[in-house]
Amino acid sequence: MRRAVLLLTAVLPCTLSAQRGVNRAYLDTTCAPCRNFFTYANGGWLKTATIPAAYASAGAARELVDRNAEALHGVLDDAAAGLDTARDSTTRKLGAFYASCMDSARAEQAATSPIYDDLQAIAAIRKRSALTGVIARLNLLGISAPLYILAEVDPKESTRNIGQLYQGGLGLPDRDYYLRADPASDSLRLAYGAHVARTFELLGDTPAAARTAAAAVMRFETALAESSMTRVAQRDPEAVYHPKTLRELSALAPAIDWPRYFDALGVPALAAPKSAQPLNVSQPAFLHQLSALVDRAPLDEWRAYLRWHLVDNVAPSLSAAFVAEDFAFRARLRGVKEQLPRWKRCAAASDDALGDALGKAYVEREFPPASKARVLEIVNNLQAAFAERIRRLSWMSDSTKAQALTKLGAVLKKIGYPDRWKDYSGLTVSASAPYASNLLAAQTFEQQRELAKIGQPVDRYEWHMTAPTVNAYYDPTTNEITFPAGILAPPYFDPAADDAVNYGGIGSVIGHELTHGFDDQGRQYDAGGNLRDWWTAEDARRFQARAERVVTQYNGYVAVDTLHVNGALTLGENLADIGGLEIAYDAYERSLAGKPRPGDVDGFTPEQRFFLAFAQGWRSLLRPETLRLRTLTNSHAPPEWRVNGSVSNSPEFARAFECRAGDAMVRTDSVGAAVW
Ligand SMILES: [Zn+2]
Repeated sequence: MRRAVLLLTAVLPCTLSAQRGVNRAYLDTTCAPCRNFFTYANGGWLKTATIPAAYASAGAARELVDRNAEALHGVLDDAAAGLDTARDSTTRKLGAFYASCMDSARAEQAATSPIYDDLQAIAAIRKRSALTGVIARLNLLGISAPLYILAEVDPKESTRNIGQLYQGGLGLPDRDYYLRADPASDSLRLAYGAHVARTFELLGDTPAAARTAAAAVMRFETALAESSMTRVAQRDPEAVYHPKTLRELSALAPAIDWPRYFDALGVPALAAPKSAQPLNVSQPAFLHQLSALVDRAPLDEWRAYLRWHLVDNVAPSLSAAFVAEDFAFRARLRGVKEQLPRWKRCAAASDDALGDALGKAYVEREFPPASKARVLEIVNNLQAAFAERIRRLSWMSDSTKAQALTKLGAVLKKIGYPDRWKDYSGLTVSASAPYASNLLAAQTFEQQRELAKIGQPVDRYEWHMTAPTVNAYYDPTTNEITFPAGILAPPYFDPAADDAVNYGGIGSVIGHELTHGFDDQGRQYDAGGNLRDWWTAEDARRFQARAERVVTQYNGYVAVDTLHVNGALTLGENLADIGGLEIAYDAYERSLAGKPRPGDVDGFTPEQRFFLAFAQGWRSLLRPETLRLRTLTNSHAPPEWRVNGSVSNSPEFARAFECRAGDAMVRTDSVGAAVW
């Protein structure tokens, strides 16, 4: 379980150069900062901003993603050009993968041959006993249908990896999309059914057969959705922790031949009849339902469902007709109008498939060692500032404070890139193979790497994001914060900018990740990453009462049209935003200690520039479709509310901009949501 700061799924073009510090041109000074700080900081930009046709959003993070993509483009072109001459085999593999992705003629010529054998295996299912093997085969290919398995840190034995079974297998973005009864959901389900049917026609079905098969897929997925846990329910770590032995697993889901499943996945230790090694079943009710479907769902429904998920997974890598059909449906969900250029799709796919090979070359070109040292210094200052805040908390007892400080002191800090890069020697890819074949080979390689960790000691030094990623995360089971090189660039971090800008930018991101260790989920894990309650009952009660105010606060915000932010779904992120900003501010003040006070710049005090840098880091414009999708499925509030929701709880913000009680950006003490 990892908690990230951003959620970015595509790359965007850069039309603005990187700006050092606060950009005056982005401001809307006709809007008072105490009335709407997001608009004050970004309104000038918002007035003229447009979202390019191939993009779901525009703004600061998107521009950085795009600058990074340009850098990756250079790395990948060089790797593909040097296929015969590259010194090392990993660079050759990276070049071959990218070259095959760019080779649209080869994809056209190959048609569906890369998945021919698997399509045949699905078509040949005549007995229920054959289902287990085919499900395991899809999982091995990296396809999460109808369930999936990962190796993750055992939340109650954090030095060991445990196999975790998860609910999966839905083609729409969330279970609720199947179950909501409103006109928008009805029309989306119709569009999805038509999309599934058209894809079956591309596989050669007659229109009538394709419609029948698509209806079967919809019935099957609706049955899975009905037994799937909601996103909010899954936020409770205890609710998704159910360790089971093979025997117990077989009792829960008897129709699935588990020994055969684990054998087919290549994890024989779990398949042994007397295996005492537990697995965690995250969603038992889902597995129980899946077993019932193995028992009772018509086999033609199963064949349609499995065939759909196989082709849905590889469609973006097949011939142009599949790519276009896949894009048309996904574009509708996010509101985008056209495809990204092929090189951008291939750069993103290369980052997914060979992220450490790409990341190593990326940091050599883009990330100077001095940046790593400077960011570590900021992280250390944040950690010290957070410790001081914990000591000063009025609502927490000394005994819980001592535990919190131990946990904070034990946080593992990962900055820029991993100390050890992943080894790709076991991966076979070829520049002359169809792209889909290379993609499936890479997905299988990654899945096998994952499965090999089950039962093994945890490697705390492994990274779970690639170095070029514009994002960051906290993982409560390893008690680590990770900041890839991709986000350690303007406007978030600029070695040449002054401290107000860097603490308001990357400082608030670092504070956000540190606070995740103490949000409503993170606080349930101890310094060693174990799910263990270290709170007194009274302190826990006080925390919950404060957190409840944060839920209420964000429930009050409208994301788009009449759709409100889901305060329960976004609670952990909002706590991290509110706390992270305060910690970053304190750390900034610490950084100034003993130095002459910095002068004003452009008429702004250092404190005002800190908050402006924070708000301009969230400068963004999202398509309404994307806002809707994110509000229903994403644990982060929309950017406007991440800014205004945070600053309105900050007394330091009110002081910096001379806001008064009654201003929109000032929440009074009685409803204020300060926790950390
Ligand atoms: Zn977060």
